[in-house]
Amino acid sequence: MWYNIGMKILAIESSCDETAAAVIEDGVKILSNVVVSQVDIFAKYGGVIPEVAARSHLEAILPVVEKALEDAGLTKEEIDAIAVTHTPGLMGSLLIGTLTARMLAILWGKPLYATHHLKSHIYANWLSTGEAPEFPLLSLVISGGHTQIIYMREHNNFEIIGTTRDDAIGECFDKVAKILGLPYPGGPSIAKAALEGDASRYKLPHPKVEGLDFSFSGLKTAVLRAVQAELGLPITTPSYELKEHLSEQQRADFAASFQATACDILIDKLKMAVLAHPEAKTLVFAGGVSANQVLREKALKTLQNGPDGVFRKVYFPAPRLAGDNGAMVGAAAYFEVISGVEPTDPYALSIAPRTAIG
Ligand code: AMP
Ligand code: MG
Repeated sequence: MWYNIGMKILAIESSCDETAAAVIEDGVKILSNVVVSQVDIFAKYGGVIPEVAARSHLEAILPVVEKALEDAGLTKEEIDAIAVTHTPGLMGSLLIGTLTARMLAILWGKPLYATHHLKSHIYANWLSTGEAPEFPLLSLVISGGHTQIIYMREHNNFEIIGTTRDDAIGECFDKVAKILGLPYPGGPSIAKAALEGDASRYKLPHPKVEGLDFSFSGLKTAVLRAVQAELGLPITTPSYELKEHLSEQQRADFAASFQATACDILIDKLKMAVLAHPEAKTLVFAGGVSANQVLREKALKTLQNGPDGVFRKVYFPAPRLAGDNGAMVGAAAYFEVISGVEPTDPYALSIAPRTAIG
């Protein structure tokens, strides 16, 4: 059910290395969506440096907010509420977004909604498809910092039923890319290299984790050992020395083999979640890793007519909404509003680097 109340939310996102702001009407209509990525800065370093990220947010945040209003063709008077990501994320990065949102809420006299970053990733699907995934649903949240299976009974109701015990899947893509000598961020560069590779060339193990939990640190080490073995080098060889010995074909084959294994692990767990919750009506992918094309193809092939033979629609965020952006924050805040969540006191808003969705 849609609530056409014409509510326009200015939403701010700065939890990691994207400075973003958007204006969203009624949770599903994107009036503007401005994202300034710091990826070019961090490609040089091979990863995010939190202090540098915070300083870059500080430079970009006000122009990004202004551009979001301008693109939407709205003045501040026409904005009904402000939303911002307050958890989880990098401390310094979260601070810039939340301080900006607090300041605007106080100066403009608007209600403030502080939203959870993973909720926002899930709600990117409502923006992408123009239709509402049916509840109850199972969401696979796969990003640079998280790997979780979340059961949603209704709007704004989340239960974590599986989570990683060590590395996140996106982090694993990024670390494996580093071993292979592929640029940061690792996800897109592994996907690109894998196009020329043979996914069956190297056999990589599936972690033995019971239930719906994940583990990815072993897979990363398995790639490291497989590269050392392929090159005939001892296991004491530092990972940063391996890339110069790999041929283009070996690199592509490792990228393809790793990508296929990682996707299979994710899909196997989601299959198990479907069997444990057969009442789930839809499956919703969320987070930066859900942009992966191989994952999308495998998911449609194996999950749509699921392990129990029941048809469940599979949703993916539009690729431009899979990574961090303000639009998804505006959607999440809107569904909080219609679920009866009260605005946050801007003077009391605090940040938290790690908080579970709930
Ligand atoms: P997020 O934390 O949601 O912003 O997502 C960022 C993570 O998604 C990073 O670890 C990226 O390497 C990863 N990522 C982005 N695009 C892809 C892709 N096409 N395939 C796999 N991982 C990806
Ligand atoms: Mg994210």
